[in-house]
Amino acid sequence: MSSGRIIINEERCKGCELCIAACPPAVIDLAGHLNSRGYRPATLLDPEHLCTGCALCAVVCPDAAITVFRDLPLPKVRRPVMEMV
Ligand code: SF4
Ligand code: SF4
Repeated sequence: MSSGRIIINEERCKGCELCIAACPPAVIDLAGHLNSRGYRPATLLDPEHLCTGCALCAVVCPDAAITVFRDLPLPKVRRPVMEMV
């Protein structure tokens, strides 16, 4: 399974919790502090690296506050073919 992580732009976030409800592994929560607009911003709490990079959180965010990064598997290296000479 691929792994991912997110970055949340705290100043764009209004703490609506839509991303929290949308996240399958439940690795988003509200922070304990307030942003400059007085909202508790969403934050990634993922010590076990359960985020898959599915991007559901970013899709549902009405303020486009979430950027998703997903690890991609490295392309397979083609092995050199040995020829008998
Ligand atoms: S990318 Fe998917 S798994 Fe990761 S925080 Fe967002 S909703 Fe959760
Ligand atoms: S959906 Fe967007 S605005 Fe709402 S809590 Fe999550 S990051 Fe913040």
